[in-house]
Amino acid sequence: MSTEDNEPVKTICPYCGVGCGIQVNQGDDPGDVSFMPWGDAPVNEGRVCIKGGAATQVVDHEDRLTEPLIREDGEFREATWEEAYDRIVSEMEQIREEHGPDGMGFFGSSKTMNEENYLLQKLARRYGTNQVDNCTRMCHASTVWALRTSLGQGAMTNSMADLEEAADVFWIEGSNPGEQHPIANSQYFRQAVLEGATVIQVDPHANKTTRSFEIGETDRHMHLQLNPGTDIPLLNVVLKTILERHEEEPDAGWIDEAFVEERTEGFDHLKETLADFDKEAAAEEAGVPLEDIELAAEKYAMANNAAIFTGMGMSQHTCGVDNVQNEINLALITGNLGKPGTGVNPLRGQNNVQGTCDVGAMPNVLPGYQLVDDDEARQSVEAEWGFEIPDEPGLTNVEISHSIGDTVHGLYVMGENPIMSEPDGNETEKRFEEDLEFLCVQDIFMTETAKLADVILPATTWAERGGTVTNTDRRVQRMRGADKVHENTKHDLDILMDVGSRLFGEDGFRFDDVEAVFEELREVCPIYHGMTYDALGETGIQWPCYEEGDEGDQYLYEESFDTESGLGRIEGVRHQPPAEVPDEEYPLILTTARLEEHYNTGTMSRRSPTLSRQHPENFVDVHPNDADHYGIEDGDTVTLRSRRGEIDVKAQVTEDIKEGVVWTTPHFAAASANRLTNDVLDDRAKIPEYKAAAADIAVTVAD
Ligand code: SF4
Repeated sequence: MSTEDNEPVKTICPYCGVGCGIQVNQGDDPGDVSFMPWGDAPVNEGRVCIKGGAATQVVDHEDRLTEPLIREDGEFREATWEEAYDRIVSEMEQIREEHGPDGMGFFGSSKTMNEENYLLQKLARRYGTNQVDNCTRMCHASTVWALRTSLGQGAMTNSMADLEEAADVFWIEGSNPGEQHPIANSQYFRQAVLEGATVIQVDPHANKTTRSFEIGETDRHMHLQLNPGTDIPLLNVVLKTILERHEEEPDAGWIDEAFVEERTEGFDHLKETLADFDKEAAAEEAGVPLEDIELAAEKYAMANNAAIFTGMGMSQHTCGVDNVQNEINLALITGNLGKPGTGVNPLRGQNNVQGTCDVGAMPNVLPGYQLVDDDEARQSVEAEWGFEIPDEPGLTNVEISHSIGDTVHGLYVMGENPIMSEPDGNETEKRFEEDLEFLCVQDIFMTETAKLADVILPATTWAERGGTVTNTDRRVQRMRGADKVHENTKHDLDILMDVGSRLFGEDGFRFDDVEAVFEELREVCPIYHGMTYDALGETGIQWPCYEEGDEGDQYLYEESFDTESGLGRIEGVRHQPPAEVPDEEYPLILTTARLEEHYNTGTMSRRSPTLSRQHPENFVDVHPNDADHYGIEDGDTVTLRSRRGEIDVKAQVTEDIKEGVVWTTPHFAAASANRLTNDVLDDRAKIPEYKAAAADIAVTVAD
C-alpha cells in the first residue's frame, strides 16, 4: 500500500492495547518516517505515551531483515523468495506425510493485524490442524476463559469512556495501567479520579499506578500489597465480608439481591464455599491486615458503580481462571455488571491481542469464538471455506513447544519470539535447537527465535501495512500503511497468501487486497459481521456488531449475559498456592512484570534509542531487609537463580517490593526473567505461572 503525495497516514500505535491513533509522517525517501500526533483520534485525542511517540524509530532501523534467508550447512545465506517458498512447502509437506498435520504448529502474532492472523489460522486449518495459537496464551488466556464461560464473551465488559464517566471505584488487581496502559491511565482513569473516583490497587509491587494516584498518601485510595499468588484468599476475604455485612444489614446494599436473583446462577455455591472460610488466616496468608481488606470490601460494595481492572498479576498463575472467576463473583453479587462504570475489564497488553483471538488464532475456537467442537458452528465456517476443519481442539502454544521432538516436528512462527516469551527459556531454546526439524519465522528483525530458524522471511513493519486491529475495549480500527522501506520485504498478509496458494492453490488463499480478506473474515465472524472498511472509517466500531448499521456496544450484558442460560455464573473458588513455593534452597518468591518503556521480548523497544535509554538493561527489585540479609548494596550486580537457570542483573534496593519477594522483567535477551520462570500451566487455560516461582539471590562473584 502506498500513499499519494507523501501525505501522513493515520494509523494505530503498534504497542499496547489501548489503541491510540497516531500519524506517520513520510519524508522524501522511503524509511524517512516520523511520528505525528493525530489530534482527533477516537481513543486518545492526540495524546501518546513514550512508546507511542517513539514507535517510528524502528521502521528504518539498521537491523531490519531485508532479504529472505535460508539455513544451509548450519549457516544462513540470502535466498530468493521462490527458493524460500519452495523450502517451506517441501518441509511442511514432508512433515504432514511423516507425522500427520498435527506434526506442525502455527504461532500467530498480536503485533500483526486481524486479516493476517485470520489467514494464518485458516492456513493452519487447511493444513489439517487446530494447532494454531498466539501470545494471548501468555497473558490473558485464563481471563478470556473465565469471562467467556461465566459471562459469555472473552473481552473487556465495559469501555474506557464509560468507565471514566460513571465509575466511582476502580478495583485494580494485578494490573499496572500507569505503566502498561499509560493513556488509559492518564486520560480516562485519572480524569475519573479527579472527579472523585476511588482507587483500590491490589498488587505485590508498588509502581507507577500507585504513584500516579498518590495511593497511600490519603485515606481515600488504598494499596493492598499482597504476597504473590494469594489473590484468591484476599478476594475471598472481600466476598465473605460482603456476605457477613449483608446478613447484619440486609437493606444497606452490600449485595444486589434483585440482580443476583434475576441475572445470576450459582450464588449458593459461593456461600457454601465460604461457609467455613477463615478470614484471619486468609489475610495472614495474603500478608495484608484484615481490617484493610474489610475496608476495601466496603468501598467497593458501597459504590454506585465499581469497575474491576484485571491484569496479568491475576491471569498468569496455575489458578488464573479461578482468580478471574473470583473477580466475576465479586462483580455479580454486587450488581456491578451490565451498566456503565462497572464490569470486569482486562486491559490487554498488545495492540492486537484482542483481535488475534477474535479472528480465531487459537486452538479451540474459530473466528468469533465459535468452538471447533461445536458441529453447527464448525460446519457453518466449513461451508464458507470449502474444506473440513478438524473437530478437536489443538495444542496451545506452550503445549506445542513442550511437544517438540515428540508429536510436533515443525513450527511456523509469524512475528513472535517464543525463545524469550515462553517460561523456562533455557529448556525452550534447547528444544527448538535440538529437536525441531523445521522452523520458519517471518519477522522484521533477527529475533532470538529467528536465529534458530531454517527459513527467515523478511516482513514489513507496522507502519508500512494496512489492515485492522482491535483494541482492549473491543474497538476495531483501521491501520493505514506508509510506503515500504525495503523493496524485497513483504507484508505478512502477502507472505501468507503466497505460502497458502503454493500449498493449497489460489482458491481461498489469494485475495485482491487486505479489504477483501476482511470481507471474508466478517462472513465467518458473527461479532464482526456488520463491519465494513467504510463503516469503520476513522473512529472504528466496538464489537459486537452483528448487522451492517449496528454501532457496536460500549458495554456488554445490559439485558442478559451471552451464556447459554443468559445468566451470569457465580462459582466459589478455593486457594491454590503457586506450584512452586519458597523452601530452604530457594527461599524467595520471584515475580515478574513489564516496564513502561519496553514491550514484551524487547524486539522493537530495545532497538528504539528513546526507549532503550530509559532502561538499557534488566534489574531486580529487592526489599531493604532482604538486601541486608544477603549483603546486597543498591547497584550491585547480583545472580538471581531458580531451579531452571540464573541471570546476572543489577539490584535495585527498594521498599516498592515486599520482604521475601524479588521482582524482575522479561524484556532483555541477556538476562530475561523467563530464564527462571516456571513452565507449569493452568489446567484449563494453559497459561504459564509467570508470577510466582521459588528463587535465590547472591552478590555476583567475578570469575
Ligand atoms: Fe501506544 Fe499504548 Fe502508549 Fe497509547 S498508551 S501511545 S497505544 S503504548
